[in-house]
This record gives sequence, C-alpha cells and structure tokens, in this order.
Amino acid sequence: MKVPFVNLKEQFARLQQEITIALEEVFHDGQFIGGKQVNDFETAFGSLISSPYCIATGNCTDALFAALKVLGAGQGHEIIVPAFGWISCAAMTSFTGALPVFADVDNAFYTIDPADVARKITPQTRGIVAVHLYGQAAPVNELKALCREKNLFLIEDCAQAQLTEDQGKTAGTVGDFGCFSFYPTKNLGAYGDAGCAVTSNREQAVYFRRLVNHGGLHKDEHLFEGINSRMDTVQAALLNVKLKHLEEWTARRIALASVYRKNLEGVSGIKLPQTRPDSRHTFHLFVVRTQRREDLIRFLLEHDIEVAIHYPRALPFEPAYEDRHFEKSDFPVAASLQDEVLSLPLYPELTEEKVEHTCNIIRSFFAQE
Ligand SMILES: *Cc1c(COP(=O)(O)O)cnc(C)c1O
Repeated sequence: MKVPFVNLKEQFARLQQEITIALEEVFHDGQFIGGKQVNDFETAFGSLISSPYCIATGNCTDALFAALKVLGAGQGHEIIVPAFGWISCAAMTSFTGALPVFADVDNAFYTIDPADVARKITPQTRGIVAVHLYGQAAPVNELKALCREKNLFLIEDCAQAQLTEDQGKTAGTVGDFGCFSFYPTKNLGAYGDAGCAVTSNREQAVYFRRLVNHGGLHKDEHLFEGINSRMDTVQAALLNVKLKHLEEWTARRIALASVYRKNLEGVSGIKLPQTRPDSRHTFHLFVVRTQRREDLIRFLLEHDIEVAIHYPRALPFEPAYEDRHFEKSDFPVAASLQDEVLSLPLYPELTEEKVEHTCNIIRSFFAQE
C-alpha cells in the first residue's frame, strides 16, 4: 500500500467542475489583477476568521514584510522571532533593516516560548512575531499581554494555521496583524503562490493595502514607495471555490490526527504531538519526535510510506545566520527538534486505512530488537 506525503491531484479531481467554471469566468471577464474575485475572497476569508480587514497579497512572506513595515520596524530595532520554523519572519525582519532576535521554542508544543521571549527583550525591541507552527496555536494571548506591558507589536504568522484557535480566538485576530499563506500544500492552498494579512485596525489596513500596491490604492496614486504584492485574480477565484471546504477539511485533518494518536499511543521510542490546552490544533502537519529518525525514515520508505522533515535545521544554525555564531546551547529545544522531528502523511483525502497501515509499520519498527 503506497502512502504519499502529499496528494493534491485527488483534491483537484473532486473539485474539477467547480474550478473549471470559476476559471472560465475570470478568463471571460478579462480582469487578472484585483476585481470581484479578489474582493470576494477578502470578504469571505475575513468573515470566516472574524477579522474586519483582510488584504490579499502575492504570498505570506510579502505579507509579513508589509506588516513589519506598517508597524514601523526598521534600522536599530530588534524583533523577536522563533528559533524553529520557516525562515520568512526572520528574513523579512532583516529586510526592514531590523535585527531578528531568536527566542527558543517550548519543548511541549514547539511554538515560541514566552519565558525566553521575556528574557530577550531589550530597549531596542519593537515587536514579536509568533508562529502557529504545524497548526498548533502559539500562546498569543499570553504574548499579547507581554506586548501591552512592554509597548511592543505582535504579528501572528498563520501560514500553517487557518482556523487554528487559542482561548476561543481565531489565529490571526489577536496580534496587530495575522499573515496567512495559501501556498499549494497549506491547509487552504492556491494553485500557485498567494497570501493575505488581516487586522482590526482600519488605518493600518489602508496603509498596508497601499504598501503592497505601489504606495497607492489606485493606479495614479503613489503616496510613498511601495512594493507590488497582490493576489492574482485567478488564484482568488480558485481559493473562493476551496474556501467553502476549509472547515470540513480541517475537521477531517483533526479526525485523522486522532486515528494516528489512537494507534501510536504508548509506542515507546516515539513522542506524539500534544495540543495546547484550550486551543484548536488544525494539524497542517502531524509531527512526531524520535531519536531513531533516520532508521525509521528508511524503514518507512522501504514500505512505500513517504515522510518529510519540518525542519532539518533550526533557523539560528542556517548558513544565513552563520555570522552570528550561535551555539546549540543557545537554543536547546530547537537544537533537539531539528534532529528528532518527523512529519507523517496527513491531508483530508488520506484514508483511515492508510493511517492505520502507517501506524502498523511504525509499531513494527519499534517492536524490532
Ligand atoms: C509557508 C510558510 C511561510 C511562507 O509562505 P509563502 O506564502 O510561501 O511566502 C511563512 N511562514 C510559515 C510558518 C510557513 O509555513
């Protein structure tokens, strides 16, 4: 039984008719930047996650950059970002001229550790970027309180966390901005790059929209220098079709995660993902930890089960930050995660049977010797 790590073809097969109609409409209208489909997407997505302003962008990395700029990040400032995850938050911080300061993640939930954040705050600190990693809620309510006390901004990187919740609040609605990715394999994925930002601040929403549109709301307005990062009309049309299925797909991911849990609970040698109390984990990825990772990967591949590693190197240890001479002991949790994490296949189209099969193979691996 073959278990692929991703399978976007099956989702397309199920949506093909709706998608064809949506695409034909765009091509008939002949408008490929902005327009009805983009406006509709912004309204629908904002309302789905209960945020008053949603601005579509070309991708999440640009949304993070624009959010940092709108909130004033620049030369001489420090922004605290997690040491484990994707590079966008740290890289975009540097692109504003500010310095990314890494905080370690916590050992139970793998999201940024508020205690380490507190230790890293200096007079130069202007803000924090929290990442809801793998679909797990970062402790944004706790971080928000810290930000209020220290007068810092909070950005939520929700690229992996559509419909994640923490203490009853949807991911993206607690910070000053929430930034989302619709990269094809995300829980809500376009057929190419796409992203958006949400905020509840009207003025910052307008500033953001100008910033990603050459500094103006229309063609002949350039109030300041901006970038060009808009969601293609074609991608918006496709996302409008898929958005209607997001809640159902999310519920399916959560259900499949419990199938993994039920079948792997108690297997010694493997640590299962935990969900932060009073939160909703949307399982963009189902990530286990094991000290026998390389052998397990080989064994699973021999049995036609594809897995992946998110991520093989913690950010401070990437060549991009070589000049800062970080040591493993600076980020003990991130340093151990990079050697132990393993992502098992999980997507709505996966069957219970394949999840159970994968669990059986994993159990037989740990039963050896
Ligand atoms: C995918 C991802 C991004 C980048 O999103 P793009 O849309 O590809 O720019 C940023 N942060 C995290 C946590 C991601 O998973």
